[in-house]
Amino acid sequence: MPDQHSYDFTWQDLGDLVSGRPNLGDTTSVVVYRLMVFTFKDVLSKEIGLAQTRQLFVKAGRLAGMEFCRNLLDKNLEIEAFIAQLKQTLIELKIGVLRIESADLQRLDFTLTVSEDLDCSGLSVLNDSVCDYDEGLLAGIMEEYTGKPFSAKEIDCWATGDRTCRFVVKNLAEHD
Ligand SMILES: [Zn+2]
Repeated sequence: MPDQHSYDFTWQDLGDLVSGRPNLGDTTSVVVYRLMVFTFKDVLSKEIGLAQTRQLFVKAGRLAGMEFCRNLLDKNLEIEAFIAQLKQTLIELKIGVLRIESADLQRLDFTLTVSEDLDCSGLSVLNDSVCDYDEGLLAGIMEEYTGKPFSAKEIDCWATGDRTCRFVVKNLAEHD
């Protein structure tokens, strides 16, 4: 009897899209994705508050990032090749266009931008960054790749009036 009070995500839960959607295929509209994200945000924020909701989006993004890395990326690659593969995969999945602005490859600290971001590009300016899920996603990918704790903080966002999202990604093992 499975535990009815919690759910453990596995990559297999995403289903077999080749047999499941032979005509429609494995892509959809960004509108559909954002509709789900923002309605979750609405409902959850009224249940548990916005701050807590945003924390949960980061947490879910982190889980997604770890699974993303495990299932779609090659953890055995050296850092430069790994980043190149990550860039390529983010484009193929139409999540966004990643660019490394600066990197400390010894410490594994990065400042990076994501343009045409799935979560926020084209939104109204809200004077607040909205890419909580992406923060978690980036940290989760790096954690799974390195086995070390990471933080990712969005410092610019389309929703703060910038034309790209900018994240500071830090290897926390080097910052205690
Ligand atoms: Zn953003």
